[in-house]
Parts: sequence; C-alpha cells; structure tokens
Amino acid sequence: MNQTPNFTDHLIVTLDGPAGSGKSAVARQLAQRLEVDFLDTGAMYRGITALCLNHDIDPMTQPDKVLEIARKAELDFDWQVDPPALYAMGQNLTEQLRSSAVTLAVSGIAALGPIREILVEAQRKIGKAHPRLVTEGRDQGSVVFPEAEVKFYLVAKPQVRAKRRALQMRQAGQQADENLICKQIVERDHKDSTRKDGPLICPDDAVTIDTSEMTLNQVVEHLHQIVMQRLTNV
Ligand code: C5P
Repeated sequence: MNQTPNFTDHLIVTLDGPAGSGKSAVARQLAQRLEVDFLDTGAMYRGITALCLNHDIDPMTQPDKVLEIARKAELDFDWQVDPPALYAMGQNLTEQLRSSAVTLAVSGIAALGPIREILVEAQRKIGKAHPRLVTEGRDQGSVVFPEAEVKFYLVAKPQVRAKRRALQMRQAGQQADENLICKQIVERDHKDSTRKDGPLICPDDAVTIDTSEMTLNQVVEHLHQIVMQRLTNV
C-alpha cells in the first residue's frame, strides 16, 4: 500500500506568533508561492469585535451579548479577492478590521472561551473546504490544526514590531507613536499568552523563526524552503 502523503490534495501550514511579528504579510506571500489559500484568523476575531462595536456591545460587561452576536455573525470570506474580504451578517467589514478601536478591544473578545469555540469550529470547517491552506493566528498549530504538515512560530523584538507597525500606519497616511504602539503590543501579547483558552504558545513541533533582523522577502524565502524540504523529505 502506498503510504506517501499526497500534498497536492492536503497541505496545511500554520503560522502562529505575537502581534506584529509579520505573520499576515508572510502567510499571504507564502500562500501565493505555494499556490494555496490563505486564512487570516485574526480577521475573524476582529470581525466579531467590529460587530460588537457597531452594535454598542461592551465585551467586558456584556459577554452574553457578544456570544449572541457571534452566533448570528455568519462570518464568510470572499476568496475571489486577495486578501479574502470578510463579511459578517452580509456586510463587508474588511475596512474596519484594522481600526484602532477594534485593535484595542479584540484581545478581550478573543479571551472568551465560547467565542473561541465558535471560531475554532469555523476555522476547521474552512480547513476542510480549503485543504491546501496557509493559516495564521495564535492557536493554529496548537489547537485548530494540530495535524498540520508544517508549523511555524514567528517572533520579533517588540521594538522592531512597533517600528514595522508605525511604518505601515505612516504609509497609510496615519499618525503613529512608536512608543505607544510598543506598549500596546506588549499588553496584547500578555493578554493573548495568559488567557485560559487557546493561549498564544509555541507548538512543540513548530519551527521558531526570529524575524527581527530579516526582511519580509527573506522570511518568506526561508519558510518556503523549509516547506519544500519537508515535502520532499517524507
Ligand atoms: O493577528 P491579529 O493581530 O489580527 O489578531 C488580533 C487578535 O485576535 C489577537 O491579538 C488575538 O487576541 C486574537 N486572535 C486569537 N487567535 C487567533 C488569531 C487572533 O486569539 N487564532
């Protein structure tokens, strides 16, 4: 019997790591190079957060309402555009996902166990419909896709992450205070790493890459090489 895995049918690559480690940009480009789909799971937590803000729900004092809206959200990606656009309740929320209000509130919502259950299930469903996938988040290798073929954990020094984020904001015509961003990044990492459900951890079988001294292209190239080696060495 032929036991060789068939990667043309199934290839899940997970990228986890703290805020601003460059996961989204790296995951998206890696997916393009591997010619597979790309899933930004942070967008799903951000989508629920945006819905809460739009419905005046306070995640800290109204967790039941957060759950109610998450159940009704019907999160759906439009895979025809790159990166995929996120719809909830039939509305395109993509533009709102990276707003400061959403960024400040999202970790509180992501710490709610029942919300994670809903989104973990939705992500596994996406994995079934898109079995050739690069997926990024905090718990992709540890909780959502423990059987993934290749797992990465991306890290970078907080100051470097703040600098990258500030540059992105300035390029988008926004003002950016690097020290404030650094403080917010460290706070978000702390919340994400210390929560009870699906905390940010490095899976035992993940390859850790410190991207502090690397360019985006170098990281993508390095990860691509590792994936190709894995696929040819099985
Ligand atoms: O990656 P991004 O910064 O867009 O993620 C936003 C927030 O969503 C994270 O700070 C974290 O609280 C939450 N998140 C999560 N699990 C994931 C992806 C994101 O808890 N798989």
